Amino acid sequence: MDNGTRLLLRQLPSVDELLQEPSIREMAQTLPRWAVVEAIREVLERRRRMIAKGQSGSTPSDLSSRTALVAEAQQIAARLSRPTLRRLINATGVVIHTNFGRAPLAEPAIERVVEAARGYSNLEYDLERGDRGSRQEHVEQLLCRLTGAEAALAVNNNAAAVLLAINTLAEGKEVIVSRGELVEIGDSFRIPDIMRRAGGILREVGTTNRTYLRDYEDAVGAASAMLLKVHTSNFRIQGFTNQVPVTELAGLGEKAGLPVVEDVGSGALVDLSQLGLSREPMPSESIRAGADLITFSGDKLLGGPQAGLIVGKRALVERLRRNPLARAVRIDKLSLAALEATLRLYLDEGQAVAHVPVLRALAMPLHEIERRAVYLRDRIAAYAAGHLEVSIIEGTSEVGGGALPLEAIPTRLVTVQGVGLSAPVLEGRLRRTDPPVMVRIKDDRIVLDPRTVSEDELDTLANLMASVVAS
Ligand SMILES: *Cc1c(COP(=O)(O)O)cnc(C)c1O
Repeated sequence: MDNGTRLLLRQLPSVDELLQEPSIREMAQTLPRWAVVEAIREVLERRRRMIAKGQSGSTPSDLSSRTALVAEAQQIAARLSRPTLRRLINATGVVIHTNFGRAPLAEPAIERVVEAARGYSNLEYDLERGDRGSRQEHVEQLLCRLTGAEAALAVNNNAAAVLLAINTLAEGKEVIVSRGELVEIGDSFRIPDIMRRAGGILREVGTTNRTYLRDYEDAVGAASAMLLKVHTSNFRIQGFTNQVPVTELAGLGEKAGLPVVEDVGSGALVDLSQLGLSREPMPSESIRAGADLITFSGDKLLGGPQAGLIVGKRALVERLRRNPLARAVRIDKLSLAALEATLRLYLDEGQAVAHVPVLRALAMPLHEIERRAVYLRDRIAAYAAGHLEVSIIEGTSEVGGGALPLEAIPTRLVTVQGVGLSAPVLEGRLRRTDPPVMVRIKDDRIVLDPRTVSEDELDTLANLMASVVAS
């Protein structure tokens, strides 16, 4: 180390010295002390590394300037003290965005979560009998009513529901599945992998595009334990295809004495064709078609909390409930509170469509989207005049969450072009605002889809758009 370097290092203030700086003391009034101390350490460490590397271009005063150190420390301290899991504005138009937390909850569900979180509850206590109860009692009757099933069980998520069903009914035995239904959902739920981990032996039948009842019939034998049907949620095979309907599988299951389990994925509790969308399999239809157990997610088209819902024959649900794995994948009280409230909304379909945010977004009329788009456009144009060019074009929104993958729902998009700024640069800045704004890029323009932006986020969004181009 040469003398120049040594001198520079010696000029750096100590942590304690910096903590005495008036501006830092002021910072410590609003930010937690631990974050301020850690930020100062980090800044000093960065400076030492820069000096040791003989950073070219930096003058000695740059490297030890208090103002620069303090400003940098402030930024770091602010970042450290902010929660990493934060709300964001989803202007992508993808309604059930897996990376953005899937379904926003309905207001009554949020209220129930807060109440359950704040104090004690009768989570597992029967107030009538004055004795221990089951947490499942809060949702079982509702699920039965809404699907026509005899019994129901809620677990942590649909992956857990499938795992529990296979492990309970088919450990060490064969599960017959069509080759066209060996799906991968998200980046980690894959039927063959879940099968192995659940202890089931995958017995593939048919082909990728065509599977017939006789394929299942040929595979049934002494080693069989279950017929599994999986909804191909996030893709469609088109052209020469054939999959066997649940009714036919149910007939075979009955003849062979094998349970028929169907993973319907999304689990829409209302007929989506009412909302102008294509149909998704509904658990109630599968029950009527004779499936013995149906599993689906709570936070996809149902629009509730993360949960895995299992509905079907009482004897089978009881077996799942008694599996020790059921405890490992049980639903927590906050999700349960949100789930009960969400399911209650579905008792009146009109209420569900009016209050469940996922359904509201999917059913939002074009004139309403248009109104929001115009409002957004005008606000952004007013706030960022000269910096942003704004207009409205026709476009499409997506359902997301691996549901209705081919559905392109007509929407209106607000396109925003930065004067002298590329779309990726603008997008990067929007990701770093507070709250962050998530957008799509189309033809080197930012596009905002009002479908997934709530009414009370419109002004914030316009302000944030302006803030990233202001000076
Ligand atoms: C989404 C999905 C799953 C996984 O559900 P999670 O609730 O995310 O665990 C499983 N199967 C199908 C068919 C799905 O669409």
